[in-house]
Amino acid sequence: QPFPLRMQGSVQKGFGRGSKQLGIPTANLPEESYSESFKLLDAAKNTGVYYGWAKVDGADDEQVHPMAMSVGWNPYYKNEKLTAEVHIMHDYKQDFYGKNMRVIVTGYVRPELDYSTLEALIEDIEFDKKVALHSLDRDSYRALQSDSFFN
Ligand code: ADP
Ligand code: MG
Repeated sequence: QPFPLRMQGSVQKGFGRGSKQLGIPTANLPEESYSESFKLLDAAKNTGVYYGWAKVDGADDEQVHPMAMSVGWNPYYKNEKLTAEVHIMHDYKQDFYGKNMRVIVTGYVRPELDYSTLEALIEDIEFDKKVALHSLDRDSYRALQSDSFFN
């Protein structure tokens, strides 16, 4: 079991796939921040949704919040590169591009799926968020919310 996995890096501009318009903004980590961790996760095979904790240094809120992370092949790079996009379950007042985001990945939720409708996609994401919140409520996972990595 590779978990928990710690990674951090400055938040990159994404590819404008309109996550924010769907109410689920996803902050992109730079490749060097997750390349080592992804080897442990065997992410090339295990694409999909992960969950854990996240914090953004210097954002308008600096608490540690639950997060859901989507790992997938990036069409922008002809599906030759994996990206990690993190949705933090907190309502930030301002964007935090360029700020350092710290993430602890505690587990895997599910593989990537194809969706025929936007409604089906959003419904699944809402379910993922519930699964993440439920799992993180266990003692051993909750302890990681105050992990020294976030100090
Ligand atoms: P992009 O294509 O640039 O990733 P998104 O529509 O996915 O654009 O929005 C992501 C950006 O929104 C993040 O980089 C961050 O600056 C901001 N943001 C605000 N709130 C959140 C949140 N709760 N989780 C993730 N990103 C957020
Ligand atoms: Mg995004």
